[in-house]
Order: sequence, then C-alpha cells, then structure tokens
Amino acid sequence: MIEARGLHKRFGSVPVLRGVSLEIARGEVVAIIGPSGSGKSTLLRCLNHLETIDSGSIAIEGETLVSTDAAGRCSYASERDLRGIGRKTGMVFQHFNLFPHLTVLENITLAPVDVLGLASDVARTRAEALLAKVGLKDKAGSYPARLSGGQKQRVAIARALAMEPDIMLFDEPTSALDPELTGEVLRTMRQLAEERMTMLVVTHEMGFAREVAHRVVFMDQGELIEAQRAADFFAHPQHARTRAFLQHML
Ligand code: ADP
Ligand code: MG
Repeated sequence: MIEARGLHKRFGSVPVLRGVSLEIARGEVVAIIGPSGSGKSTLLRCLNHLETIDSGSIAIEGETLVSTDAAGRCSYASERDLRGIGRKTGMVFQHFNLFPHLTVLENITLAPVDVLGLASDVARTRAEALLAKVGLKDKAGSYPARLSGGQKQRVAIARALAMEPDIMLFDEPTSALDPELTGEVLRTMRQLAEERMTMLVVTHEMGFAREVAHRVVFMDQGELIEAQRAADFFAHPQHARTRAFLQHML
C-alpha cells in the first residue's frame, strides 16, 4: 500500500529525514514511535504530499507519487495524478483541525461534496453513518467548540473516512487529549484496525502500539532505526537507542 524508499528531507540546512525507507502492506497497522523532533510528522506529511521530499521515492498502491532518477533529480507526478494519489490517504492530526464555523455534519460532508462531487443528500447519509460508527450520532448539528477533545478527534476521524481513503495516517491523535479522553479515540482506532484498515500511526501510546499494531517502527534523528513485529519490538528491541527510548517510555 505504501512503498517509501530512501527519503531525504531538509528544512533549510537541517536534515529531518535521512534516508527513510518503509513499506506497508494492505491491512497492516504500523506504529511509529520516537522522540520529539525525530521526523515522524514530517515523514507522514511527505507520504500525504503535505510536504515535498528532496530525494527518494514514494509509491502509494503502486502509483508513483515521487521518484528520483540516477542523477538525483526528484520529480513528482502531475497535479492531476497527485490529487488522485492524495485521495488514497486520509490524515488525522494532533489538533483535530476541524472547521470551527461548520457543524459536525458540515465538517464531514464538505470535502465529499466539494472534492468528490457527491450529491449533498448522499454525503449527508454517509456522514450520519460515519458519526454513528464513531459513536457521535447525536452531535451532527453541534459546533466543534461544544465538543470535548475526544469527540472532536472522533469527528476528525469520521471526516477523514468520509473521503473513503484506503490508508489512514494518524499523527499523535491522542497527544492533545486529557488522559481520560484518549481511550474513546483509541477504541475508534482499534475498531478501524479490526475492520482491516491500513493504518500508519505516530503515537506515544505504547499500549496501543503493543496491542493493536502489527509492526512498530522506531525513528530517531531523521532515521528509521528499527522496525519489528510489535511483540518482538517490545520484547527484544535490537538497537541501544530503541532500548533507551523504551526504558524512558515504559
Ligand atoms: P516529530 O514529529 O518526530 O516530533 P517533526 O517531523 O515534527 O518531528 O520535526 C522534525 C524536525 O524538523 C524538527 O527539528 C523540527 O523542528 C523540524 N521542522 C519540522 N517542520 C518544520 C518546518 N516546517 N520548517 C522548519 N523546520 C521544521
Ligand atoms: Mg510530530
């Protein structure tokens, strides 16, 4: 579903991704963990084309988003193809990013109507089904300001799902939440995983990584240090930097 090879990215003179390669299979749930500033968000944003890479290649479901030739020239797909490839992934952010002036229902139907060209009654029916799925059926007419953080994040998940992505990218979806609200969001994500959604999840929730993810990836200083099956990752971390990080987290 995702094939990323040798990704390099700098912000000015600061290297943020230094040769990151990652493959994700259909239905796989992969957790990315690592210290703050290690490049986790940047990696997700590059996969979703919210950031451009300097070199390397990314293919989503076999379609090339960006590639780099032997001379080191990096080239992206056409605007039209980029839009199509971009729609294969949905993203959920730490800070929800809901539109404050739109109701919950309008937040969810906006892109399906404007971008996919869905009829508004069809978009509404689908949005209502998604709200039921995330346990917020009764909040369709509410504005985001009236919701708790956990409810906002579940709306954000429903909004991403409304575009019918094949892959969901989550960037620390529970990091901005009070501890008592993380459970409801993690439950929604666990349910998606059980439905075999392909998911790449940046998280500090080690319990979620251990129980829900098939594979865990550790990043540090722009590098992918190790990737292992979740059980092996926690039982036998290979790299000293991974062990040091886990000791700090667990
Ligand atoms: P993480 O998500 O692992 O905390 P990030 O990908 O957000 O890490 O950031 C990696 C590094 O890139 C950090 O040093 C951060 O300051 C820097 N960085 C991230 N985004 C930008 C940006 N838009 N401009 C400049 N530097 C950035
Ligand atoms: Mg981040």
